[in-house]
Amino acid sequence: MLTGAVYKELQNSLQCIRRYLYQKQSGLLISYEQNQREIFNMKKIIIVGGGVSGISAGIYAKKAGFEVVIFEKNQLAGGQCMGWNRKQHHIDNCIHWLTGTKKETSLWNIWNEVGAIEPDTEYVKSEKFFTTYVGNEQVTLWKNLDRTEQELLALSPADETEIKKFITHVKYATCCEMPADKPMDMMGIKDYLKMGKAMADMPKVVKEYGKIDMQDLANRFKHPVIKTFLTDYLPKEYTATSFIVSYATIASGNGDVPVGGSLAMVNRMLKKYQDLGGFLSCNSPVKKVCLEGNLATGIELVDGNIHKADYVLLATDAGEALEKLLANKYTDKKWQKSFSDSRKYPLFSGVQMAFSIDKATYPYSGTIFFDCKTVQVGDKNVNRMSVKSFEYETEWAPAGKIVLQANILQYDEDYEYWKSLDEKTYTMIKKKLAEEVRERIVEKFPSLKGYIELLDCWTPMTYERYCNSYHGAYMGFITRKDVKPFRVKGTVKGIKNVYLASQWIQSPGGLPVAVTAGKFTIQRILRKSTVNG
Ligand SMILES: Cc1cc2nc3c(=O)[nH]c(=O)nc-3n(C[C@H](O)[C@H](O)[C@H](O)COP(=O)(O)OP(=O)(O)OC[C@H]3O[C@@H](n4cnc5c(N)ncnc54)[C@H](O)[C@@H]3O)c2cc1C
Repeated sequence: MLTGAVYKELQNSLQCIRRYLYQKQSGLLISYEQNQREIFNMKKIIIVGGGVSGISAGIYAKKAGFEVVIFEKNQLAGGQCMGWNRKQHHIDNCIHWLTGTKKETSLWNIWNEVGAIEPDTEYVKSEKFFTTYVGNEQVTLWKNLDRTEQELLALSPADETEIKKFITHVKYATCCEMPADKPMDMMGIKDYLKMGKAMADMPKVVKEYGKIDMQDLANRFKHPVIKTFLTDYLPKEYTATSFIVSYATIASGNGDVPVGGSLAMVNRMLKKYQDLGGFLSCNSPVKKVCLEGNLATGIELVDGNIHKADYVLLATDAGEALEKLLANKYTDKKWQKSFSDSRKYPLFSGVQMAFSIDKATYPYSGTIFFDCKTVQVGDKNVNRMSVKSFEYETEWAPAGKIVLQANILQYDEDYEYWKSLDEKTYTMIKKKLAEEVRERIVEKFPSLKGYIELLDCWTPMTYERYCNSYHGAYMGFITRKDVKPFRVKGTVKGIKNVYLASQWIQSPGGLPVAVTAGKFTIQRILRKSTVNG
C-alpha cells in the first residue's frame, strides 16, 4: 500500500511530467526543476465565468499543472454557448458556424485539445450558407462557390465583373487562418513567416475589400437582391473582408456545425476540464476581485464567501469584469474609449423567437432572410427578418415537428429601448412582438398557417440577465472600416495577477476568440512565471 505522502509525491511527479510535456508542445518550455518547484507548491487560479473562454482557460491551466476553480453565476456552465428546452423542444442559442472544423488548422487543434471536437465528430450536412429573398426573387450562397457564381450571374448579368471579383476573392480568403498557437505579441519571426506563407492570398483580399464595409460592398452591385444579401447576414457596419472571410470559412468546410449543437459541445469541454481535475462551482455569482495593493488575493462571492488564489482570470463579459468586478478602477483609456463610442465600436444583439412547426408544412431548410410588412420594435420599423430551421436535429423536437427560430438584429440603441421598459410592459411587448413575427412568417410561408406555435422569445435583456452581457451584446466590438480592430492582451494595468480572458479581448469576438483567449491567458501566465522564476 502507498502511504498518503508517497502517493502525493507520485501524483506531483506525474503532474510535473504532464506539465513539462504540455509546455514543450506549446513552445513555452520552462525547466523541469521550475515546474517541480511550482507543482510541489501548486499555484491556484480562480476563473470567473464558465463560458467557452473560462472552460478553455480552465483546461489549459489544469494541463499546465495549476489548481483551478471556475465560479459560474448560473446553474449551468456555457454562457452564451447555450441551449435550453421548452415544451419538449430544444432551442439552440449559439453555433451558426464554428470556425476551426477543418482538421489541418491550428484552431482545430485547440478545439480538439479542449474536447470540443474529435477526429470523428459529425457535422451537420448542409450545402448552404444562407438564402435571401426579395419579394419572389431569391439567391442562395452555396458552400460550392462555383454554384453561387453561376446563380448570381444568371440573376444579374450586368454585375458580372463584381460577381466574378467577389467569388475570386472568397476563394483567396479560404487560406485565412486565425493565429491560434500563441498570442500575436508572443510570436517570433519564424511564426510570422509561417503565417505569411500559409495566408499568401490574403493581402489580395485586404487590398480589394479591406477599406470598405458591407454597405459599400452592396453599393458596388446593381441588382437589388445582391445588394440585399450583402447586408442581410452580418450587420452592415462589418468590414467587407469579415464577410468574405466568413463565407470562405464556410465554403472551405472550416466553419461547420457539430451535431448536437452548442450545449453538447460545451458539455464535452466541461467533461474534459473535470476529467483533468478542474473544479466548477455553479450558482456562484462573483461580487468582486479582492485586492491588496497591486495584487489580487482572490474573489468575493455575492453570498459573502471569500476564496483565495494566486491568479484571477475574468472570463466574463468585459463590462462586467471592468465595471463591476474591478469596480471601474482599472478601466484604461482604450476600454473607456471603446465603450463610450458606439459609432466607432458598435455592438449588436437580437430579438429572437423559437417556434414549433409541422415539418410537413415547411419544404425549406437552413437560414432564410425575407422582407415583411412592418414590425415595430421600439421606435424602429423592421422590414426584414430571418428564420432558421433545425430539421437536421431530429432529437430536438417531437416526431413530425421541427424548431424554427426567427431573428431581428438589434443595436445598442435598441437595448436602451428594452432597458427602459418595466417588467409588465416588457412581458406584454415581447408577447405582442412574437405574435406579429409569427404572422409575418405565415405571410411569407402560408403553408405554415395553423401549424406554428410559439415556444420562447428572448431579447438583449435576456443576455444581460443571463450572462451579464454588456447591453446584451452577442459578441465583442465590431470592426469598422475606418477603425483599427480592437485587440488587447487582457492584462490589467495596476494589478499583477488579474487577466481579462474572454471573447472581448479581440474584435469581433465569437467562439474562436473565446477559446483562444483562454489558452493565451495561460500561456501569458506561464511566460511570466518563466521570466520571474
Ligand atoms: C445568438 C448568438 C449566436 C452566436 N453565434 C455564434 C456563431 O455561430 N459562431 C461563433 O463563433 N460565435 C457565435 N456567438 C458568440 C459566442 O456565443 C460567444 O463568442 C462565446 O460564447 C463567448 O464566450 P465567453 O466565454 O467569452 O463569454 P460568455 O459566454 O458570455 O461567458 C461568460 C460567463 O461568465 C458568467 N458570468 C458573468 N458574470 C459573472 C459573475 N459576476 N460571476 C460568475 N459568473 C459570471 C456568465 O454567466 C457566463 O457563463 C453567438 C452568440 C449569440 C448570443
